[in-house]
Order: sequence, then C-alpha cells, then structure tokens
Amino acid sequence: MTIDAQRLDTIEKNAITVIGVPYDENSTYMQGAAGGPPKIREALHCGSANLCSEDGVDLGVQTLFNDLGDMEFAQSSAPLDAIQQFVGKLLEKEARVLVLGGDHAITPAVLRAYHEKFGRINVLHFDAHPDLYESFEGNRDSHACPFARIMEEKLAKRLVQVGIRTMNPHQQNQAEKFGVEVVDMQSWRPGMRFDFSGPLYISLDMDALDPAFAPGVSHHEPGGLSTRDLLTMIQAIDVPVLGADIVEFNPLRDVSGMTAMVAAKLMKELASKMLND
Ligand code: MN
Ligand code: MN
Repeated sequence: MTIDAQRLDTIEKNAITVIGVPYDENSTYMQGAAGGPPKIREALHCGSANLCSEDGVDLGVQTLFNDLGDMEFAQSSAPLDAIQQFVGKLLEKEARVLVLGGDHAITPAVLRAYHEKFGRINVLHFDAHPDLYESFEGNRDSHACPFARIMEEKLAKRLVQVGIRTMNPHQQNQAEKFGVEVVDMQSWRPGMRFDFSGPLYISLDMDALDPAFAPGVSHHEPGGLSTRDLLTMIQAIDVPVLGADIVEFNPLRDVSGMTAMVAAKLMKELASKMLND
C-alpha cells in the first residue's frame, strides 16, 4: 500500500493520519523493521478483534482516522529529508501524524517537521535503550543516536524516557548534558505519572516492552514493561498528543504475529488518545 497523493487533499483538521515509513537502513544489529507497517495493518484488519480502543472509540467508523499508506524510498537519495518533508506537508494540513516505522532513526526527521510547525514540544519516549549515542559505528543517523540529534537540535521542550534498561556511561553523560529525564526500569513503578504541561509527541520503540510480550524486535532486552503497563501509561496522558510513532517492530523476529498484534493494539490506543484532547 503506497501513498495515495490525491488523498492528501482530503485530510481534515486534527485527523489522525497514519503513514508507514518502511525504512531501516540505519539499523545496526539487524535489519527487518522496514517490513513493519504492512504487518501491523494486517493485524489491525485481520478480523480477530474490532477496531475500538479500550475507551470505546471505534476507529472503523471514525472519519478522522485515515491511513495514507507507505512512503517509498527506492529512488530517494535523502530518505530522512523526504520523511521530514512529507510529515511537514501533513502538518500543514493540520493533521496529527501517526508514523509506523521503520527503525528509530526516522524519529528526528519526524520531529524536525513538528518543530517547524509547533516549535519545541514535549517528547515522551518509551524504549529499552536511551538512543543517545553521539555516533554509533561511525553513523550519526544510526538508530542508536536519534535522541542525541533531537536534543542537540533543541527540537524537544522536555524529553522523558521510560523503560530504559541499557544505560552506559557515555549515554549517561549525554543524558546529563542534555537534561534528559530518564525513568529507568529499576526505578519505574506502576502508576507513575509524567506531568506534562502542553502538547506531546510520543515515540514508542517496541523493545520498551519485555520480549515476552513483544518478541518481534531486533534487540531483545529482558526486564521490560508489560503491554498492560504501557497501555495504562498511554491512557493516563492528559495533554493533547499531536503526533506519535511506533518503531522497531521487526516481523522477521516475530512469533505467530503476536508482536504485530501488540503494535496494532498500541496503534488503536494512541489514535484514540490523539483524537481526544
Ligand atoms: Mn529506540
Ligand atoms: Mn530500543
């Protein structure tokens, strides 16, 4: 399913607009996350569940929920710039963009577009990894580096990271330098609240979840959040969510399509949250 350019003109204000970004060239350990978007859609529409979020919003009949399809990168010489430009176009239409990755390297491109439109907004980042490397294996666009770029470029008003369980000295220094608020798994407790003042962007790396719940990720990191933990935190957010991404789902590592279904569930909850301020 590729992007239908004509549908760009029909986007309504505040419509939740889903785009797939099947791009994983900046992954380090293994590729495969580019295959994510079609598998998440397949799970969403497979008929085993309805299209309602847990608060009863039916995305199946919701006119402010649209899936534009997947971007294409075959001819693109600057994929990250192309992502920024396309998201920028959607934001001009006052859409709220829900991005399906792809690996985490795409998030700075998305946030550059958000920054152009809104200035600095709050960012809530769920991940096993802080993704704060200055550079990784010689690549500053690596999926290990996105939040270093985001903080250097001052794209975020506040960055709160939740689910972290792989902090190392280099990234700890980076976190301190940039003033990142890190809630690591050692100190995380159910019911913790993150009080944001003002609009929010949510970046959700699927490996924030424990591999028991989401085995379909490139970097298995035990000791993570349950699906319920994550849903409860998303549902508790009480500020407008202007955009979100779900990244790092790798179908090549999935087991019986379970992770695809978890991603589809999170997509429904995020979409519902984005619809209701
Ligand atoms: Mn990540
Ligand atoms: Mn991660």
